[in-house]
Amino acid sequence: MSKGLLIIVSGFSGAGKSTVTKLLVDKYDNYALSVSATTRSPRDGEEEGVDYFYKTEEEFLEMVNGDAFLEYAYYVDHAYGTPMAYVDEQLESGKDVLLEIEIQGALKVKARRPDTIMIFITPPSAEELVRRLTSRGTDSEEVIRSRLRQAVKESEGMDCYDYIIVNDDLEACVTDMHTLIQTQHCRTAQQAGFIEKIQKELKEREETTE
Ligand code: 5GP
Repeated sequence: MSKGLLIIVSGFSGAGKSTVTKLLVDKYDNYALSVSATTRSPRDGEEEGVDYFYKTEEEFLEMVNGDAFLEYAYYVDHAYGTPMAYVDEQLESGKDVLLEIEIQGALKVKARRPDTIMIFITPPSAEELVRRLTSRGTDSEEVIRSRLRQAVKESEGMDCYDYIIVNDDLEACVTDMHTLIQTQHCRTAQQAGFIEKIQKELKEREETTE
C-alpha cells in the first residue's frame, strides 16, 4: 500500500474549514484528521481529544523539548502544535492526513515535508465572510473586528498555498476538496512504487517473450 498524503487546510476564521474537514472525514474513509495540542482553554462544546488536546504551558513545552511536534506556532496568545506520532502512523497506514493549521505552522510543515499539499479555503468575498462571522451571533463586535483584522493579515499569505478553494456552497466545496486530493494521488512522486513495479513486470515479460 502506498503512503497517504499530508494535506494542510488553512483559512480565515469563518471560512468553514473545520466543517469541511469534518465532512470529508465523515463522508469518505481515506481521511484522518489530526488533533492538535493547544494551551488555550476549551470553548463551549469542545471536547478533549476531539477538538484539541488541552495542555498547560509546561506540558506543551515538555512536548516541544521531547520533539513530539511536527510543527508548532503561537497564534493570538496561545501555542498550537501538531503531534507527530499520530500523523506518521496514519500516513504509513495509507490514510490522507488533514492538518487544520494556520500559516506559520503550514510553512514549517512544507519546509520539513516538501510534498505536503497546502490548501487555503476562503469564502467568495469579504462581504460574505463578515456575514458568516456576524450570523454566528455568539461573538461581540470587538471579536468580529479582531477576526477581520486577522483575516486581512492571513490574506497576505494566500499565495504561499498550492490551491485556493472557494467555499460558497458547502457540499460543492467538500466534493472539490476530495477530487483535488484524489488527483494528487496520480502525481508521479506518489506513484514511485507503481512505476517500479510496472517497469520490472515489463522487463520480465520482455525476457520471457525473447
Ligand atoms: P482556534 O483557537 O480558533 O481553534 O484556532 C486558531 C488557529 O490556530 C486556527 O487558524 C487553527 O487552524 C490554528 N491551529 C489549530 N491547531 C494548530 C496547530 O496544531 N498548529 C498550528 N500552527 N496552528 C493550529
